[in-house]
This record gives sequence, structure tokens and C-alpha cells, in this order.
Amino acid sequence: MRIGIIGGGQLGRMLALAAHSLGHEPHAYDPNSEASAGDVARLTVGSFDDRDRLAAFADRVDLLTYEFENIDAAILEDLASRGVPFDPSPRFLALSQDRLLEKRALVDLGIPVAPHRAVDSLADLERAQAELGARLVVKTRRLGYDGRGQRRIHTPDELRSVWEALGGTPLIAEAFIPFLSEVSLVATRGRDGSMVFYALTENLHEHGILRLSRAPARPPIDALTATAEDHVRRLAERYSYVGTLTVEFFVTGLGLVANETAPRVHNSGHWTIDGAGTSQFANHVRALAGYPLGSTRPHGHVAMANCVGGLPDPATVLAIPGAQLHDYRKDARPGRKVGHVTLVGTEPFEPDRAPLKTLLAETPFLVG
Ligand code: AMP
Repeated sequence: MRIGIIGGGQLGRMLALAAHSLGHEPHAYDPNSEASAGDVARLTVGSFDDRDRLAAFADRVDLLTYEFENIDAAILEDLASRGVPFDPSPRFLALSQDRLLEKRALVDLGIPVAPHRAVDSLADLERAQAELGARLVVKTRRLGYDGRGQRRIHTPDELRSVWEALGGTPLIAEAFIPFLSEVSLVATRGRDGSMVFYALTENLHEHGILRLSRAPARPPIDALTATAEDHVRRLAERYSYVGTLTVEFFVTGLGLVANETAPRVHNSGHWTIDGAGTSQFANHVRALAGYPLGSTRPHGHVAMANCVGGLPDPATVLAIPGAQLHDYRKDARPGRKVGHVTLVGTEPFEPDRAPLKTLLAETPFLVG
């Protein structure tokens, strides 16, 4: 089958590789003629708001999906009406693109989220601080990722400068959650409603960018797995979701607090390529194609380090036992994810002990 992927970044590249191994023909659509997925998919170059070009792309494929979230959901909803199966549904994308609508949907399903307020003026921001507490995380409702469009507030005298930096676009103020750690759950739902879940993954962010993922989560965090699965299952079922879906959570003394949903394969699931029975990419393709979903069982313990702003020396990192290097063939710039390295072993990996310590020392994380 011809699988059309809207977006040609590294997620598109890894989806295309998974599509190839099942004998499908991946096509990617991206504004950049040098897009990472272009090495392994037939690339159509066009802007994300060019409705005609996108429609022509949709008409050339048998199944349609997306790997890039910051596209006008109304344009994608139009594409979905052309008759080509299009998953995950753009309706879900519209929700996850807006942090306020996303939180309302989660609350509606009984999934805990950070106390929050919509902010459209400095007065709203002042009220939010009075109601939620001095420490706030203020975010743009839309188009924020990897810590962009986000500011922290600790004291009332910071309100005005944060409003000046972010205001003018709809915002959300969230109470600062003093989390113990951050985890994510990646799952795939098939066309027949069957669901598989990957091991709960512990994530470490620096400057808002994912640095390290480790799976399966260790005690006592692993005890939250069933709750996380239940949350993700309810969300997927409510929206008749098809494909791979990720929810990021804060772990607090009172349990899980959902922070963000991603209607797609996710960076914190990259370890599944080398470290699970079936990768998140392969299961996404299986879901699209209507095939049975594959085993998500982890191959022991896994760690994944992102390469940000540069790649490590392959000869050095590949000398680490159990290491696999993935190079997205992107130009390196500070803050840009250009690859990742996975370690698979029989014991949990600790950042302050070899071999993960060595890997982190060798892997660039340049945020600029
Ligand atoms: P986000 O863009 O929502 O994924 O946020 C990026 C990172 O900022 C998260 O992974 C957290 O480390 C931190 N963060 C976001 N929201 C909050 C919050 N309400 N309380 C504490 N930390 C937060």
C-alpha cells in the first residue's frame, strides 16, 4: 500500500523505514526538499497550508497519516473528507494542538491535569497567580513544543515581563507541579479497537527538551503502569483513535498528572525500535493497514539518549556494549534533534554509572 505521511522529519523517516519492512510504499509531504524522510520515502515538497498540493498528495496514496502536529487541523479535516483513510483522526489533533482544549478533554475523562486558567490579558495572569499560587508555568495554548512558548513565574513581579514576552496570543497558566519524575506511556490502537501498551518510560528533560528515556520504569514508579494504561485507553476509545498515541505525565506524591498528549509516534518511544518486540513505528503502520498489532514486550532494560545539536562519534558510541546509533541525516543546529542512541541490556541503566554515563558524556546535547 502507498502510505502518505504528512511531515518529513525524523518521525516520518522512522515511519517510512517501518513501512518499507512491511512492503508498503512510503510517501512523505514536507516543505523542505532536504527533509530527513526524503532519503527513504517519495517526497512531495509543498507548504503545509497549500490545500491543493496536499489534496493531490492525498489522492496519490491509499492511507494517510501525519507526523507533524503544527498544521492547521481544519486543512487536515478537509483532507480527511476526500475518502482516503486518515489516522489518527484530525479531530483528535485539533484537540491536542490546543493546551486548554486538551486539558478540558482530559478532565472530562477523569484524568488529572495541573490546575490551570486560560489567560488572555495581564489581569487574567494576575488572577491566575492569586488563584493557583505564586509559581506558575505559562504556555502558549498553541504551537509550543520542546519548551518553546513557555515561561516560568516564581513571584508577582515577573508577571508583567512574562506577559510582555508571550502575550498577544492565547495563553494558559498552569500551577507549577513539583513532580518527582516525568513518565510517558506510548500505546497503539488498531482499527478493530485492540490496544497494546509499551512499558511505562521515565523521561529526563533539560531546557524543555527530552534528554534521556529509560524503560521499563523501575519501582516504585512502575506501580503506576495500570493507571497510566487506563487513562490512555479511555482517551483512545473516546476518540476512536487509530495508530500510536502518547501521553506524558508528571509523577507526583498523589499519583499521575497528565501534561501533554501527542497523537503520533513519540520521541520517548524511540527506544522501542531496538528495545521492544515491535517498534512504535511498526505498530503505527500495522494499525493504519488494519493488521494485527505486534508484541510491545521490552528486551530487558533500555535507555535512549537524544543527540541534540550534533552527533556523537559513531566509533566511540558503538563501542559501548548494547548501543545502537540512529542518525536522522539532518543539519546540526543547537536545539535540533539530529539522532538518538539506544542502549539495551539486562540491568537498569543509571546515568551516573557506565555504560549510560559514558554514553551521555559522548552524546551532544547543545541547546543554544
Ligand atoms: P511541555 O511543553 O508542556 O511538554 O513542557 C516541557 C517541560 O516543562 C515538561 O516536560 C516539564 O519538565 C516542564 N513543565 C511543563 N509544565 C509544567 C508544570 N505545570 N509544572 C512543572 N513543570 C512543568
